[in-house]
This record gives sequence, C-alpha cells and structure tokens, in this order.
Amino acid sequence: MGIVATRHIPKGTVTYVKDEMEIVIAPGDPRLEDPNYKNIIETYTYTDRDGTRILSWDHAKYVNHCCQCNTMSTGYGFEIAIRDIEPKEEITDEYGLFNFDKPIELECEFTPCRKKVSGQDIDKYYRQWDEQVKGALNFYNQVDQPLASYLKSGVKQSLDEYLEQDKNYRSVLELKYPND
Ligand SMILES: [Zn+2]
Repeated sequence: MGIVATRHIPKGTVTYVKDEMEIVIAPGDPRLEDPNYKNIIETYTYTDRDGTRILSWDHAKYVNHCCQCNTMSTGYGFEIAIRDIEPKEEITDEYGLFNFDKPIELECEFTPCRKKVSGQDIDKYYRQWDEQVKGALNFYNQVDQPLASYLKSGVKQSLDEYLEQDKNYRSVLELKYPND
C-alpha cells in the first residue's frame, strides 16, 4: 500500500491536517491490547506527544516512509510538501516524527537508507528536519492550500506569526516534547 500523487503538488503545500474525523486512541484504551485491533493500531497510527495514537480515517494512514521523504510533519500539527511532488510520484513521510514506541525495521528506495526508524530519531535529526520544514513554509503563502480551511485558528495564528514576523517558529520537537 502507498499513496501516489495524481497531480503536481508544489513545495509548501499542506498535505495533511489532523482533522475532526481522525480516530483518536488515548493511552490505556482497551483497543490497544485487543487482538482484533492491536495490529491495525500498530501499523497505521502515529502518536502525539501525549501518547495518544491517531488513526487517519482517510488515505493518510497509507503513506509510507522514505529516508528522503517529500512531505514532513511540522510542529504546527500539519504535514507539508518539502519539495515539488510530480504526478505518479509516491508521497512519502518521515516516520522518525511519528513517535513510535519501539523501533521499526524497514528499507526504502533511498540510499543510504537508515534501515530502522524510531522515536529517538527526532533527537538526532530535528535540526535538519526543521530546516526542511522552514524551507517549505517559505512557500506556504505562494501556493494553493486546499486544506487551509481545516487548520484550527490557533494554528493559523501561530503560523502567521512565524511567516509574517519570523517569530516563535514551532520546531518539530513539539511533536515529541511539550514546548514549555
Ligand atoms: Zn530508508
């Protein structure tokens, strides 16, 4: 399974927003230990910094990891295209930002592939990932944003503050750690 672009998606386009339809599985939820759901949850969710698992109701859950991904999670809670994505190109993510509680082994098409992603990767790579996110945010106001209406007002406000005044950028570290 994977997700493939059907049209050109320019760098700076928001590609995912945690919307109101997402399935939210809090720590301690009995489904986490239920054999009927456990495997699905482990395969298709990401985890927020409170330990809550998020299962996308739409195609977002099928996006694969690539060590040279073309979209990336941001400290604003949405994902963004970090380079131009062409039609028929697979849309990929950085799983190092998904807070997995145990490392997963995988192989992507990129060389060198890290071969393993874990919740600790963010501590090692956040500077690089923040640079990639900032590079994409520079284009935020220049491209169509079909998902903009799904952004919560607080997020939009905080994003505008960064884009207009270069203030209080929200690092990808906020995906793992509280910011206070
Ligand atoms: Zn890889």
